[in-house]
Order: sequence, then structure tokens, then C-alpha cells
Amino acid sequence: MPSRTFLQWILWLATVSCHAQTLVVSLYDYSDLSSKETLHLTKTADLVLAHSGIHIAWLYCRGALAEMPETTCEETMRSNEIVVRLQPGVSRRPENGTMGRSVVTTAGGSYVSVWAPAVRTQAAAFGMAFALLMGYAVAHEVGHCLLGSGHSHAGLMRGSWNRKDASEMSRLSLHLTKQEAQIAVARLTLAQPTAQK
Ligand SMILES: [Zn+2]
Repeated sequence: MPSRTFLQWILWLATVSCHAQTLVVSLYDYSDLSSKETLHLTKTADLVLAHSGIHIAWLYCRGALAEMPETTCEETMRSNEIVVRLQPGVSRRPENGTMGRSVVTTAGGSYVSVWAPAVRTQAAAFGMAFALLMGYAVAHEVGHCLLGSGHSHAGLMRGSWNRKDASEMSRLSLHLTKQEAQIAVARLTLAQPTAQK
């Protein structure tokens, strides 16, 4: 739990960081998505987080859009990098009814898993495109890596999504709250490789 002083400092930093910050996302698809689905989900996550001032630089490490050997992606881990794995199975903790999980400490996190079958089932229940919900699920877990494990009662970081959220997703209007966006951008500002001198 950050101290009030630390939070105030983060928010101050947010007010002076007016440029979009870059987040590198290394994507490992073990769930055999098509290139069309992969593009749809990455573009969705792009739009969702761009609204908060976060630019995603994707590294396609495994899957339909992978261009480079997997080892190239694994050589280095940048300070502003998150590894996202799209899994074909189910969560080991399915009792949470979860579509994804992030490994997060108080300092944030760098590893995300999203379970494609759970997302497919939920997308069908909402009557929305699977890849669109995948993009939102990835953006939500990436949000945990930048904001911590807590959920909020509005927007992208709600603990579970309902039909109202689904209709906002279909209009691409479900986002981080303004304060979450400020904290996420500030955290990312600290993590930029050029900021580490
Ligand atoms: Zn969550």
C-alpha cells in the first residue's frame, strides 16, 4: 500500500509527464489464435490504453504474427516490459471464474496470463467478439501490472464485467479511471529505460 506522500509524489509526477509513455508487451500465444484475432486483440488493447496515455510496443514472440525466433524475445527483459501469455487451458484456480491473472507485487508486475477458452465462453455469453474481449482482458491484466492487484468499482479495472461493461467495450469506451491512468503513466515514466541514468 503506497504511503500518501508517495501517492502524492506519483500524482505530481503524472502532472509533469505530458507525453505518452511506451509499454513493451511481449506476446506469447500458446492458444493458436489466427493472425486476424491476434491483430484485433492487440489493436483493442492499443486503443484502450492509448486513451490513458500509454503506447504499447508489441513484440510478437510466439503465435500467428511471430516473426522472430522465440529466443530473441527472451534475451532481455526491459524495465518497461510485460510478458503476456495467451493460454489454451484453464486457470489452476478456476474457482475465481477468471479470464486472466497477473503476477503482481506492491511494486507492480511483469507477467500476465490470459486463458483464451474462458474468454471465448464469456464473449459468447455477452454476444460480443471474442478478440475484442481478449483485448480487454489483456488490458485489464496489464493494468494490474501497473496499478497493483486491487480492483475498482468503475471502468477497466472492475473485478468482474457485466453486460453494461460489455456494451461499453463494444463501443471501445471502457477505460482506466482518470486517477488510475495518472498513476499508471507515472509508474511507466519511472520505468522508461531512458529515465534510468
Ligand atoms: Zn483483475
